[in-house]
Amino acid sequence: MSDNRLVNPLDNGRPTLVDNLIDGWELVVGLEVHVELATATKLFSASANRFGDEPNIHIDPVTLGLPGALPVLNRHAVELAMRIGLALDCTVQPSTFHRKNYFYPDMPKAYQISQYDQPINIDGHLDLPNGQRIGIERAHLEEDTGKSTHVGGPSGRIHGSSHSLIDFNRAGVPLVEIVSRPDMRTAEEARQYVTELRGILLAVGASDAKMEEGSMRCDVNVSVHKPGTMFGTRCEIKNVNSVRSLGRATEYEARRQIAMIEAGETVRQETRHWDENDGRTYTLRTKEDADDYRYFLEPDLVPLDPSPEWIQAVREALPMLPGARRTRLGAATGTAPDSEAVMVVVERGQDDYVLAVGHLGGDVARALVHVKEAYADQGAEPSVAAQDLALLTRMEVGGKLTATQAKAVLADIVEAGGGDAQAIAVAKGFEALDTSSLEALVDQAIAENADAWSKFQAGEGKALGALVGAVMKSSQGKADGKLVTALLNAKKG
Ligand code: ADP
Ligand code: MG
Repeated sequence: MSDNRLVNPLDNGRPTLVDNLIDGWELVVGLEVHVELATATKLFSASANRFGDEPNIHIDPVTLGLPGALPVLNRHAVELAMRIGLALDCTVQPSTFHRKNYFYPDMPKAYQISQYDQPINIDGHLDLPNGQRIGIERAHLEEDTGKSTHVGGPSGRIHGSSHSLIDFNRAGVPLVEIVSRPDMRTAEEARQYVTELRGILLAVGASDAKMEEGSMRCDVNVSVHKPGTMFGTRCEIKNVNSVRSLGRATEYEARRQIAMIEAGETVRQETRHWDENDGRTYTLRTKEDADDYRYFLEPDLVPLDPSPEWIQAVREALPMLPGARRTRLGAATGTAPDSEAVMVVVERGQDDYVLAVGHLGGDVARALVHVKEAYADQGAEPSVAAQDLALLTRMEVGGKLTATQAKAVLADIVEAGGGDAQAIAVAKGFEALDTSSLEALVDQAIAENADAWSKFQAGEGKALGALVGAVMKSSQGKADGKLVTALLNAKKG
């Protein structure tokens, strides 16, 4: 490990991995992730928080910013924000709301209520499956904007469209913005971060976190620099709508910046748009400063100061998070916590099931492999009883079924939604041979391997393998190895 690492003292103590460099340049990535909270109503009003309904039916004076309307903070949204913060090991602190002023047609008040210099959650972290720790700067509450749809032009872009439609159903929906520290060094780490974050959000029930529906949206900040030097100027990329485009956009943007710098140009701090079809980023706008937003304290809301008891209750009610579940399953099965089987099974929520197979006397390591391979279409509560898989794995490790046979038996069990492995094995002709036909095969093996037999009789333990192997071969793998050994010992006298 040490030979491909250079230490960068500017880098939060994170060493540079030579393998991560692109033509000698190091990538620095920080993510701002917005998630819509799974509340019944909006952040400051009683209108429904629901995606996909007919436009402009979940509106009210607060949502539309009508004069005299007053916001009332949604308690459940605060609780979900705390769940996110605590799951990310943040400190939950007293916080305030600010008005962030700007005009945009999808924002009827002409300001967004957001948290500014005193956010509810600060200073946390998220550990990637490989153990790499990514710092979390803050995770604050704010309201979502409405949604504009540009009509009559190519590919829904505002450019070239004839008119725009606005849907205010989304305006005022509660969001938490999770801001990472610039701790990622590759596009792959950025992908892993978002995947892991999504798993955590789902686990704590804070959001349905669907990137394709926009309930989870990522802005990617990318810069490049030479290891050991100051960080470069970052560009922020918007419109990244899947984990795959996140990787592509990051990679593209890094190479664009490297090419610029190597051509003697300077990277400007700006917001760029990822175009999925073209596979490239475009300038959207040069970066606003905080000054441009004329932030000031929201006069219609009091500071938010959750009681220590409330925070403690939220903390205690948190479920086990994906990272801890992977560690638990990995330890139980003797498998690395970031192995594909453990990752996949925990993501599907089938780890409790695998552990239950173990508690029922089954072999938990075999159960992990089988569930990973055969339960892709099953959810967290598979239709096959854990008891059925327990029996199958017992037969397998007991030598009654080969791995291939076990797979075939399990395929039948899964298709039927359950079943007795023993009975299916018999029906398939996989059952261990009965003693009399087995004895005939043992006699045959002795006759055909006279040399091994006399060595075995003379007490040479190694000769046993040749004899058992011969029986296995003639029985086409159906013989029970332990029984064959017992028969050979009995015949030796
Ligand atoms: P803004 O609102 O201006 O985008 P934020 O503080 O909300 O600022 O977010 C800044 C994001 O940019 C964070 O995720 C941070 O990790 C990231 N970041 C900061 N500096 C760099 C850099 N040099 N390269 C890449 N990302 C960076
Ligand atoms: Mg930001």
